[in-house]
Amino acid sequence: MTTAKLWFADYDPYRTLFSLEWLFEPSLEKWPAYLITILVLAGALLVKRFWCRFLCPLGAIISIFQPIGLIKVRRDENLCINCGKCDKVCPSALKPSQKATPGMQCTSCLECVEACPVKGALDVYAGPKKDSLVSKESEQSAY
Ligand code: SF4
Ligand code: SF4
Repeated sequence: MTTAKLWFADYDPYRTLFSLEWLFEPSLEKWPAYLITILVLAGALLVKRFWCRFLCPLGAIISIFQPIGLIKVRRDENLCINCGKCDKVCPSALKPSQKATPGMQCTSCLECVEACPVKGALDVYAGPKKDSLVSKESEQSAY
């Protein structure tokens, strides 16, 4: 019994790949789905986190709300020594060393904050900059 079907199901690369229809019931009529799947796989091989960064519809919706999010990673340009360690570890291939905040694609994973060798140069804040979450955690864990 079929209760519902996504409108893009016939072109969904995940469904195309894992349904294995291309193997057991290949059809020339499905060439658009095959082409999309090949392009997505090629992109994943060539570009780091290709799907997440450029194609994920959920990520696109979430990123709209990122600018108004209360918790943000922020860089203090007065403390930053431009070592670039934060850029190297960012899984989203952002450049937190070059902006005050990493931008809409930031997932707040905090890998960059952990990698930063300078205390306070890169930190995570809730609301105004003075409310550093990391500093608060550090202070609490000291007692
Ligand atoms: S919090 Fe994560 S996604 Fe955001 S800039 Fe840092 S490493 Fe990149
Ligand atoms: S890791 Fe810290 S000190 Fe190094 S560039 Fe990034 S923010 Fe600046």
